[in-house]
Amino acid sequence: MGRYTGPKCRRCKRLKMKLYLKGDRCYSEKCPVEGVRYINPPGEQPKRWYPRETPYGIQLREKQRVKEIYHLREGQFKNLFERATKADGVTGETLLILLEKRLDNVVYRLGLTTSRTQARQAVAHGHIEVNGRKVDIPSYETSVGDVITVRGKSKDIPFFSEALAHEIEVKEWLTVKRRKMEGKVTGEPKREDIEYPIKENLIVELYSK
Ligand code: SF4
Repeated sequence: MGRYTGPKCRRCKRLKMKLYLKGDRCYSEKCPVEGVRYINPPGEQPKRWYPRETPYGIQLREKQRVKEIYHLREGQFKNLFERATKADGVTGETLLILLEKRLDNVVYRLGLTTSRTQARQAVAHGHIEVNGRKVDIPSYETSVGDVITVRGKSKDIPFFSEALAHEIEVKEWLTVKRRKMEGKVTGEPKREDIEYPIKENLIVELYSK
């Protein structure tokens, strides 16, 4: 199935959660999901009664939320889930940690871009290097010690400087030298570093059927 290319805010409304797909706007009062409780998904007329959500529907929605946040297709998500099941530790937590270690996510977490969409583009278009070598694979798994830098002339691209103008809270497992547009992975991400209200156990239940 192809990637959804329609209005991003619509995805948040449908999945009833802030998915942070639009950079700055997501952190501003302009976010249409901020403080709103959606009863009817966008495009649907108000109903006189609402069907109860099934356990399957709730589990599926949780998976879709995670896929949207990290911009993954179904196949990529499934592969990552299988890796998480084979690894030591709690499967749901491992899944989220593997997602956090993706290069596009790390670029976003370092504040080099204002959204994961932008981070993904930056990586795919060859603007990022890891340990001095160009890496254009957004799913590249970073490791402790990796140094992530915006490449030479790419530093002049306005969206990098615009992103760096914003103050962000850098996660404990990362350090950043903002003026150099460079960051380092200094540790492993932990579950508590992931601030989204995701119930990963529901995803594990979904795949256990
Ligand atoms: Fe739109 Fe971002 Fe708010 Fe989602 S979180 S509704 S993408 S502004």
